[in-house]
Amino acid sequence: GKPILEVNNLRVSFKMFAGEVQAVRGVSFTVNKGEVLAIVGESGCGKSVTAQSIMRLIPSPPSVIKKGSSILFDGQTEIVKLTESQMENVRGNDIGMIFQDPMTSLNPTMTIGSQITEGILKHTKATKAEAMQRAAELLTLVGMSNAQERLLQYPHELSGGMRQRVMIALSLACNPKLLIADEPTTALDVTIQAQIIDLMRDIQKKTDTSIILITHDLGVVAEMAHKVIVMYAGKVVERGTLQDIFYDPKHPYTWGLLRSVPRLDSNKENELVSIPGSPPDLYAPPVGCAFAARCPYAMKVCQEIDPEHFDVGEGHTAACWLNHKDAPQVELPVGIGR
Ligand code: SF4
Ligand code: MG
Repeated sequence: GKPILEVNNLRVSFKMFAGEVQAVRGVSFTVNKGEVLAIVGESGCGKSVTAQSIMRLIPSPPSVIKKGSSILFDGQTEIVKLTESQMENVRGNDIGMIFQDPMTSLNPTMTIGSQITEGILKHTKATKAEAMQRAAELLTLVGMSNAQERLLQYPHELSGGMRQRVMIALSLACNPKLLIADEPTTALDVTIQAQIIDLMRDIQKKTDTSIILITHDLGVVAEMAHKVIVMYAGKVVERGTLQDIFYDPKHPYTWGLLRSVPRLDSNKENELVSIPGSPPDLYAPPVGCAFAARCPYAMKVCQEIDPEHFDVGEGHTAACWLNHKDAPQVELPVGIGR
């Protein structure tokens, strides 16, 4: 497919009293039409700030999208350069968003019906009756029965899972070309999580909408994504297809993330291996590889020079010196790789 979103050298900083936090440090990726791209990484890696920058939802100040950053939507709209009122036309209309916690993003004082029709009335020429009809269809699409009655209910009258369905209906109201889902299932219990993932996958197939899925949960990624980018300390450290990242990962940080997923063949939940140590301080990011302090394979060069991305397959790249042609061969950790 053609690109729907091209992010190029995105850099975002937060200006704080103590200095500048470099939250996103030169992130580039492309999402094609009809594609689900997952952005994975630990909390604080810059994945949410990246998503919020695409929607221009980060508070400015203290945050700044740095000069030279580009977020090109649908081949023509440079999001970085839009005014706030132009951006209001993009938000909800061209790009929809699903947040982690529907309770904070739904308005508790408005009925479900008025919340869904609000966007439709704002962005289209639909009459009130047509908008209500569309809202009812959307609730049916997201698997809610008795749509007509649901339209009259308030968010607090619904369960967490139902609220997330309403949030998805709301995000789809204006047929966006791109959906951004930031930890869409994190606040839900496991059974409901699975239902919401199934629903999102169904809707994605039916509508061929492109999705950026932000998550720390590799289980969710495996269910939905076509392509994956792995972020660490504000940078992309590996990118590839779902198969590349799960079966042929080439970055020690990705190995660490994969080891922290419960294995299907294990019945002991506590076999989770978390990556020891913590990410670097982004007030003063390290000169070399940002993962060096936690990396069991770190070499001298890693401390001194930040690795560029090496091509390790078609469309598969990894920013790690181990992929240099002269690097020592290392044994993959147990349970990683094909
Ligand atoms: Fe580890 Fe070096 Fe690769 Fe960084 S570049 S992940 S420190 S081996
Ligand atoms: Mg987050």
